[in-house]
Amino acid sequence: MRRPEKAELLRTALIALALLCASLILLRMLQARAPVPDADPPRTLPSEAIGQGGDESLTLRVFSAGELLTVSAADYLPGVLAGEMPAGFQAEALRAQAVAARSYILWKTAHGCQTHPEADVCDEPSCCKAWCSEEALRGKWGEAYAENMERMRSAVRDTDGWYLCWEGEPIQAVFHASSPGRTEDSGSIWQPLPYLVSVESPETAADVPNYRTETAVGTEAFRETLQRENPSADFSGDPADWIGETLRNESGRVSSVELGGAAFDGQTIRRLFGLRSACFTLERTRDGFLFRVTGFGHGVGMSQYGAEVMARGGSGWREILAHYYPGTTLVNLSG
Ligand SMILES: [Zn+2]
Repeated sequence: MRRPEKAELLRTALIALALLCASLILLRMLQARAPVPDADPPRTLPSEAIGQGGDESLTLRVFSAGELLTVSAADYLPGVLAGEMPAGFQAEALRAQAVAARSYILWKTAHGCQTHPEADVCDEPSCCKAWCSEEALRGKWGEAYAENMERMRSAVRDTDGWYLCWEGEPIQAVFHASSPGRTEDSGSIWQPLPYLVSVESPETAADVPNYRTETAVGTEAFRETLQRENPSADFSGDPADWIGETLRNESGRVSSVELGGAAFDGQTIRRLFGLRSACFTLERTRDGFLFRVTGFGHGVGMSQYGAEVMARGGSGWREILAHYYPGTTLVNLSG
């Protein structure tokens, strides 16, 4: 009786061991097949587990302060990020901005720096990208330099090598500070691009400093400025009658406003009177005219405060970028 029982026990143990091995192998196979690159990285992952490498391998010729420098994207990007987004923003918003900056630099590298053709990018915001030197940042941040700079470096490292593409090409990842409920379609200002279309943006006056601003203009300055821009406009009558019909596009910004019988587009009015955005109302006051403005910037691409609000609500950088640059794909420099 005892011997067969022992043999039975041994067989059971062997079967159990075989099952355990099989399930371990199966688990390994399933883990290997998990679609990691498409998933939003969990926020608890250590930095080095999120990035894939690539920024070190990208060498940029940067024209800065009269000099042509050769730097890796890993060294250059934190200074770009520091020039673009407040250091106190959420880590996921900073990561989204780092990817937008990397994408824009790659787009710019492919299209060339206009003012310094010998460089890939320059540090002039009007031409390529704003960039802050260590010296400038130490002056700006003071004692918070080390902490803030580490936040910038982390955002770059955590998204190492990732950039946005449309049909295999880096995108023109433009951005702005804040939008009045919707971002602007690039076709309203520049040329239309399929990934720079108007989308909803969640920020409100509660999230953004100076979200609503006012710009007052005296009657004579108002008339002179508009007359210079369009000599055919007629400001001979009562100033109370100068304002005509205002047309808005789907983003809520002014596409056209009739002043002195002539049509001015919203972007022109924004430029002429230094308004923070083209989302404005205009009214006659006792001694002039008053613009009430919402949001800040051209409104195209990612809204930085919108990204911040999304990040506070739990969105990861991939989700933020997919929202503001719809239809784009993420690609890594490391291939
Ligand atoms: Zn340039």
